[in-house]
Amino acid sequence: MKLLNNLIVTTLPLVPKPVVKIIANKYIAGITLGDAVKTVQQLNAKQALCTIDVLGEDIFTKEQAEASREASIRVLNAVHENNLQANLSIKITSLGLKIDKEFCQENVNAILRHAASLNNFVRIDMEDHTCTAETLEVYRTVRNLYPKHVGIVIQAYLYRSKEDILALAQEQANVRLCKGIYNEPAKVAIKDRAAIQKNYNELLQVLLEKKCYTGIATHDDVLIEHAKRLIGEMKLSKNEYEFQMLLGVRNEKRDELLAEKHRLRVYVPFGKDWYGYSVRRLKENPQMAGHVFKAIFGLEK
Ligand SMILES: Cc1cc2nc3c(=O)[nH]c(=O)nc-3n(C[C@H](O)[C@H](O)[C@H](O)COP(=O)(O)OP(=O)(O)OC[C@H]3O[C@@H](n4cnc5c(N)ncnc54)[C@H](O)[C@@H]3O)c2cc1C
Repeated sequence: MKLLNNLIVTTLPLVPKPVVKIIANKYIAGITLGDAVKTVQQLNAKQALCTIDVLGEDIFTKEQAEASREASIRVLNAVHENNLQANLSIKITSLGLKIDKEFCQENVNAILRHAASLNNFVRIDMEDHTCTAETLEVYRTVRNLYPKHVGIVIQAYLYRSKEDILALAQEQANVRLCKGIYNEPAKVAIKDRAAIQKNYNELLQVLLEKKCYTGIATHDDVLIEHAKRLIGEMKLSKNEYEFQMLLGVRNEKRDELLAEKHRLRVYVPFGKDWYGYSVRRLKENPQMAGHVFKAIFGLEK
């Protein structure tokens, strides 16, 4: 099965988009903001918090970046109007990072100004390593303006993350810690799974010891169990951390953590640009080959 999965991963670009869409449906709330609101309402009813992400991959013009900024603002409004337990996640390349950093900063500031006026919170997702330093700079600038309303993400697979975490811990940052999803070169990122897990555990310990509010973003049992052990040993209260999971991934584990009364936030992406995000999710899915075949033969709805 592993061989078949690997084969499907390498040939995924050849799989017809409608087939990918069928399998990917569980990872995205839908195309419209209304779809996202409905999904968040269902998750809130189960006591899960959410973070909403407007899907968007490469953008090439300032107009596209402005459209992305406005879409984020509409999400914040929808959260407010529908009384949702949800915040917003943003990717700053979709706000113009690769076009003009100052322009991108203004867009991020505008989103944060709006989030702060609604007393909400914005998480700046972390993208590939070519964006790390600038993403941290944009984050720090906006954090100076709206310290209680913005958080950042650190990827445990990057060698630089230890230094970043030490600095962020000093600053009492609100950090989401994840392994990292991008296919990075070995000169910047740890490649061995066990070594990434070890680094994750060490970085998490630094954040929790320094009392930084931490989003423990993983579906990995080894990391979840280690985090629970640390939380127990440090006698942290339930409002000092949260677990975070992606929509459609390990729902049974999500329900287990909720039943244990941990705070848990689900990442809810939506939008017309669903393809790139979905492909990344499918590549992580151990049962992908089975899903692809079922979708092709009409067995998966
Ligand atoms: C809330 C959240 C936000 C994130 N934000 C970022 C970010 O800003 N930047 C970034 O680089 N990365 C981000 N990630 C992705 C993250 O870096 C990992 O790539 C991803 O979470 C998989 O790593 P894992 O720790 O879950 O461990 P894995 O070892 O990948 O997964 C553990 C187990 O979970 C199950 N599983 C995992 N993925 C799937 C799937 N797609 N379908 C079915 N089962 C699956 C499998 O059983 C697997 O064995 C985020 C993840 C989460 C949960």
